[in-house]
Amino acid sequence: MGGLDRDAGDGGSLIRVDGLSAAYRTHDRGARGGRKMVHAVHDVDFELKKGQTLGIAGESACGKSTLGLAVMRVLEPDAVETSGRITCGGESILEMPESGFDADFRWKRIAMIFQGAMNSLDPVFTIREQFSEVLSRHGYDGDADKAISRAVREVNLSESVLSRYPHELSGGMKQRVVIAMALLLKPELVIADEPTTALDVLVQAQVISLLKSLKSDEGMSFILITHDLAVLSEIADVVGIMYGGQIVEFGSLQEVYENPRHPYTQGLLKSIPTIRGGPPSYIAGVPPALLEEPRQCRFIDRCPYAMEKCTAPPPKFVTNTGYVMCWLEEEEKAASQSNAAAPPPREGS
Ligand code: SF4
Repeated sequence: MGGLDRDAGDGGSLIRVDGLSAAYRTHDRGARGGRKMVHAVHDVDFELKKGQTLGIAGESACGKSTLGLAVMRVLEPDAVETSGRITCGGESILEMPESGFDADFRWKRIAMIFQGAMNSLDPVFTIREQFSEVLSRHGYDGDADKAISRAVREVNLSESVLSRYPHELSGGMKQRVVIAMALLLKPELVIADEPTTALDVLVQAQVISLLKSLKSDEGMSFILITHDLAVLSEIADVVGIMYGGQIVEFGSLQEVYENPRHPYTQGLLKSIPTIRGGPPSYIAGVPPALLEEPRQCRFIDRCPYAMEKCTAPPPKFVTNTGYVMCWLEEEEKAASQSNAAAPPPREGS
């Protein structure tokens, strides 16, 4: 931990995550009889300020969704071991009793747009019935009809959708409905898990512009989980690149995109197709399985710069706006220090 230590103050901070880990229990037993674990998220740190959007990007199965579900506290406690600290508005939410978190935080202060909006609506209830259920489930005591109409209008849908069933809506409309559902109780933070996947490019652009306007008009904060770096560049203020269950590089959008320091981030950015460029490159190999907690850099098998010291896991090296987990950072620092310490070349030499 400690990648964020240089900015320990909570000024403007909405959510701060320190050393968050989440591991799934499998049905297989290890040599000592205990359940084997899949270490899906390991020692993740980040901070998000009010009104900012954090983009989390990485390949499939790198732990992005588990991270979002852990913040929302919807991982099954019987199946998952979670540790670390999450502070929201100064309150430590992982230690709260479930009843307290459900009453004060879930959906009221932190809401989620779940992956697969197309399938996350109940086919046998109208949209209005599903919205009403969210409000009553979370003890809303205001004017429910007004709140529902407002949420639907905020996502630019006609109120006529409220009397329809999910199968009567297009994919883009369903995506807007689940976004509106997340907005019902005016949360400060919305976690959006792949909100543009499976949508055509025109609807994708509409959804991105909708999230942008909610951010600028309502001051809402987002954690946007995606594998699409181009989408992130449209909306994120800060970016976390995930690999093998860890955020291996964290920083401002500008710093991470313009001066990527981790070899995995560099590889990901080179794999974005461009209209005029040649074919995009790719990162050979596959991510680690995470059944064992790796005792070396998780990217070592795919990294073109792997060296002897990478057989030990790299710590978080502080950068201008965040951190990076790569030993190259230490090598670079040592090289620049020895250059600075070297005596200037003698005249005539
Ligand atoms: Fe590559 Fe080593 Fe950096 Fe890992 S620590 S990304 S193996 S250079």
